[in-house]
Amino acid sequence: MERVAVIGAGISGLSVARLLQDRYAVKVFEKETVPGGLIRCRRVEGSLFHLCGGHVFNSRRQDVLDWFWGQFDRGREFRKADRNAVVAMTGSLMVPYPIENHFYRFAPDIQRNIIGDLLRISAVDGACPDNFADFLRLRFGETLYALYFKPYNEKVWRRPLDCVPLDWLEGKLPMPSPAEILFNNINHVEEKSFVHASFWYGNTGGSQFIADRLSEGLDICYGTEIGQISSVGGAWRIAGESYDKIVFCGNVKRLPAMVQGVDIDRWTSFIDSLEFHGTTAVFCELDANPYSWIYQPGAEHRSHRIICTGNFSPDNNAPGKMTGTVEFTDEVSKDEILDNLQRIPFHPRYITHHYNQYTYPIQGPETRRVMAEMKAALAERGLYLCGRFADWEYYNMDVAVGAAMDLCKTL
Ligand SMILES: Cc1cc2nc3c(=O)[nH]c(=O)nc-3n(C[C@H](O)[C@H](O)[C@H](O)COP(=O)(O)OP(=O)(O)OC[C@H]3O[C@@H](n4cnc5c(N)ncnc54)[C@H](O)[C@@H]3O)c2cc1C
Repeated sequence: MERVAVIGAGISGLSVARLLQDRYAVKVFEKETVPGGLIRCRRVEGSLFHLCGGHVFNSRRQDVLDWFWGQFDRGREFRKADRNAVVAMTGSLMVPYPIENHFYRFAPDIQRNIIGDLLRISAVDGACPDNFADFLRLRFGETLYALYFKPYNEKVWRRPLDCVPLDWLEGKLPMPSPAEILFNNINHVEEKSFVHASFWYGNTGGSQFIADRLSEGLDICYGTEIGQISSVGGAWRIAGESYDKIVFCGNVKRLPAMVQGVDIDRWTSFIDSLEFHGTTAVFCELDANPYSWIYQPGAEHRSHRIICTGNFSPDNNAPGKMTGTVEFTDEVSKDEILDNLQRIPFHPRYITHHYNQYTYPIQGPETRRVMAEMKAALAERGLYLCGRFADWEYYNMDVAVGAAMDLCKTL
């Protein structure tokens, strides 16, 4: 059997390793002591802390669903839930998500303004925005833009929205026309086209359960950060051993310093220029509530969302507690966190927090083209890139699994 080294035991690397294990001798290298990458969780004070986000699963790809459920006993090990997300407006108004389908919840004057906006937008159909601010204005109108889309997205992106490119957006959000928005409001239609409009979640252990199961039976070297990979005479050397192929599921920003024997210099400045965001996940006890996600456009604090992981499974809460994660873009100090928590709805009480430096890759107009060119050139040398920060793509777990399946078909 040919030997394959997989770098990274996040969901991408674990999927690749499982998909290849019948055809190759596969070894996985993971710098942390547990599998999971971004989907890692740990128990704190008896409740489950998702170190990043609050990962739920679903997919639009049938082949991904078939493969994924082949690894689990879905009926016994998972529960299904409908998304119950709201936007917390200033005051105590909770508007169901997506906000554009529920503007009938606002005061009559605001409703009139939104309807006027939508009629104006219909009249200029065909405009082609080239940045996120114009896209949102043209799609939803000035009133919803000012009330929600601008303040919320500025918290997430931490920059003026006219500096945010549009390239990441395709397929990520429902794109209702003004007529559909009006129809949805008149008929109180719930949005079903989000991939997570309904979702699956493990009964025990949250997303760590997924990583633990996918890692079972694999040859994984934990606590091993790969700092160098060398191409020597058509083979690859990693940690003193020889491999025929490498699947790199880590962060592409590490590659220039890591790769020896293959010319990667011509992409170094492109890789250096790739932008990204991190996330500070603050694990809190919260007031009981029925929601899964609470979006927060309010300017009175810097957090943009609460993920009520305590509502995803009863196993996530220590007895008598309700827990969730309050999310901030980029790194926020503990003092700032404690200060902000005082102004966040549902009285979050701090338990602990974790900062992930790399959570959201940002794509510019050239990112996909240059990444594809670089990936093709490296693949010719037996080095394959696969994963959220290896592909520099805004993958959900299922899309990461899909990318792993697509790659493994070609190997
Ligand atoms: C806030 C947030 C919320 C999200 N919510 C959802 C959700 O609800 N549902 C969903 O489907 N998706 C969600 N996602 C997306 C999901 O997290 C990712 O698609 C997925 O986890 C990416 O997995 P990955 O394996 O590609 O990368 P990662 O999880 O980043 O894994 C990379 C792994 O490689 C290891 N590694 C890196 N470099 C090296 C090295 N040199 N040597 C050894 N090991 C190395 C790392 O330690 C890590 O374990 C969310 C993402 C974020 C940021």
